Amino acid sequence: MKRFHRVFVGLGSNLEDPINQLDTAIDSLQRTPEVSVLAVSGYYRSSPVGPQDQDDFINAVVELSTSLEPEALLTALQAIEHQQGRVRERHWGPRTLDLDILYYEGITRDTDTLSIPHPRLTERAFVLIPLYDLAPELVIAGQPMEHWLEKTDDQTVEHLSL
Ligand code: ATP
Ligand code: CA
Ligand code: CA
Repeated sequence: MKRFHRVFVGLGSNLEDPINQLDTAIDSLQRTPEVSVLAVSGYYRSSPVGPQDQDDFINAVVELSTSLEPEALLTALQAIEHQQGRVRERHWGPRTLDLDILYYEGITRDTDTLSIPHPRLTERAFVLIPLYDLAPELVIAGQPMEHWLEKTDDQTVEHLSL
């Protein structure tokens, strides 16, 4: 029998109607074989990481249940990014859709193509805040969510009322 794993995926967009990009991506995730979307966080607006000459990002986090192994899940996420017209340009530049595996229950990985938990998760309020909406009990790198939220509380993240 297939085992299902609890996974959190971060979504981000700052091009071509970002809210709609996130909605479309969540629909695609729901339609992906062996993936169910269990919960969706609020949507948040934040300033870009890296180059500042680009629009604000809209971010959210989804909780999935999946029988896909981490590498297969990453491939499925990249296919959805591609479907939504993501082109790889400059590092941390504007994009229609970014899907990152933030946390995969019971798994740590550190290979060239996949690091779990996501290595920059603990530095980014725009990821921590929506993740906290869904999973305040998570322990990341040995510390509770509140520890990381406090460390990043100088970052401005605005909750959108949709
Ligand atoms: P950041 O990783 O800082 O959020 P980014 O999302 O802009 O930056 P990308 O260009 O989307 O980076 O991805 C670069 C590579 O990161 C991907 O091709 C993928 O192989 C790798 N990667 C490593 N760990 C993860 C992860 N947990 N989730 C998604 N991609 C990952
Ligand atoms: Ca990212
Ligand atoms: Ca990414």
